[in-house]
Amino acid sequence: MTTTALKPQSTSRWIAAKTAGMPTQDGAGVSLTRMVGTPQLQDLDPILMLDVIRSDDPKGYIAGFPEHPHRGFETVSYMIHGSMQHRDNHGGTGLITDGGVQWMTAGRGVVHSEMPAQSDGALFGFQLWLNLPASEKMREPWYRDIPAGELAHVSLGDGASAKLIAGEWSGQKGPGPDRAIAPFIADVTLPAYAQVSIPVPAGHAGFIYVFEGAASFGPEGSVRAGELGVLSEGAELSAAGLSKGARFLVIAGKPLKEPIAKYGPFVMNTPDQIRTAIEDYRAGRF
Ligand code: FE
Repeated sequence: MTTTALKPQSTSRWIAAKTAGMPTQDGAGVSLTRMVGTPQLQDLDPILMLDVIRSDDPKGYIAGFPEHPHRGFETVSYMIHGSMQHRDNHGGTGLITDGGVQWMTAGRGVVHSEMPAQSDGALFGFQLWLNLPASEKMREPWYRDIPAGELAHVSLGDGASAKLIAGEWSGQKGPGPDRAIAPFIADVTLPAYAQVSIPVPAGHAGFIYVFEGAASFGPEGSVRAGELGVLSEGAELSAAGLSKGARFLVIAGKPLKEPIAKYGPFVMNTPDQIRTAIEDYRAGRF
């Protein structure tokens, strides 16, 4: 991660640091790049993790994520291309396909599987972990499938556009649920040299992740495909597509400023609560 020098305070945001993430494996052997949740960038309160799964080779994803638990936070899965099947122990099932989102609030406990619903071709998707405030970590589990057609489409001029998963932009509201951290999650497409101003709420912490082309953010700071840029404090974020244009995610939330105790798929506030989570899971109380 590289950090640029502090700039004078202003209301526009800039790229405070960049990372290319860490290649790793998870589930039963799925190859992925972890962008948030690494030794370099442990978390970005209230964002706990961002994984990118992108493989043209079924060997990279076919093993999937067989049955495993979660407690204390939310997972948001966004599929750019491909299909995954979700099943959980609360009777929920859902197929997430091209352009679709699944929002799962683990709360007090979910045991689920996330398996590829394809045996060949490319798969490209994201999984984001959002923290829950202490008061909601043991809430009832919840989930919703959001097909591509239900995302809010924002036209931004110059051929630029955004698909809004959560938050508000130009009078449109994303279909994501209302949460304490007021998540802002957008997938932005910028043609070459198009410029937009992105209304990241003031006080939110967040980042951009570029996955096609390159764009320049704030007063300076270009970010290329495969790189994550941590946003400075501020409000609006200006972005301009470079010569090939760009497509990127903007993800931000209101910091919780609470202690984090994290152990694999359990994210609580204290080590004691982690011990309880492990006991509850082993005893079948999820
Ligand atoms: Fe999971």
